[in-house]
Amino acid sequence: MMHVKKEISPADLAFDIDGVVADTMAMFVTLARERYGLVHLTKDHIACYDLHRCLNLDSGIVNDLICLTLDDEHTLQTPPVPGAPKVLNELARHGPLRFVTARIWPESITQWLHATLPDVPFDRIEVIATGAPESKLQILKNMDIKFFVEDRLETCKLLAQGGVQPLLFDQPWNRTPQAESFPRVQSWSQLSEWVLP
Ligand SMILES: [Mg+2]
Repeated sequence: MMHVKKEISPADLAFDIDGVVADTMAMFVTLARERYGLVHLTKDHIACYDLHRCLNLDSGIVNDLICLTLDDEHTLQTPPVPGAPKVLNELARHGPLRFVTARIWPESITQWLHATLPDVPFDRIEVIATGAPESKLQILKNMDIKFFVEDRLETCKLLAQGGVQPLLFDQPWNRTPQAESFPRVQSWSQLSEWVLP
């Protein structure tokens, strides 16, 4: 495990959004309870990234819930990951916040960031929507990003192979033995210890 405490300059860092800044799976779980009466479901049941594989549900239901979770209305209702707004507010004083998401459209999640970070000027929030996780590496390299906070293990592997250091943000779906080669960020307060001066 690398020791990254206080070694990360804010200028070298960028963030995934879903599962790192936005608690997107919390929205998914809320919708599963409200729309399909799945009252037993919690985030801890989501033990792998592929929702079709880790939830014992009809695939039509899973698809419907994914679409609902990512639509404009529910994107704007998504809670932040605890601690994220506070730390991002502090980091924004050091320079622009850079977000790279595999979402196809940046508009609604950018609007969500503006609402979640009301004290951060709009021109300090940059969002790039790649449309595919495989596209993140080249975009991060073009931006000269050295560290990327990400919750999807496969993306961490691709980034590491390409020379961008992933910081794996702890979630129930990435607690596998293969994840042990990456520094694991347990919380936003831990991340702030690694980054902020
Ligand atoms: Mg993510």
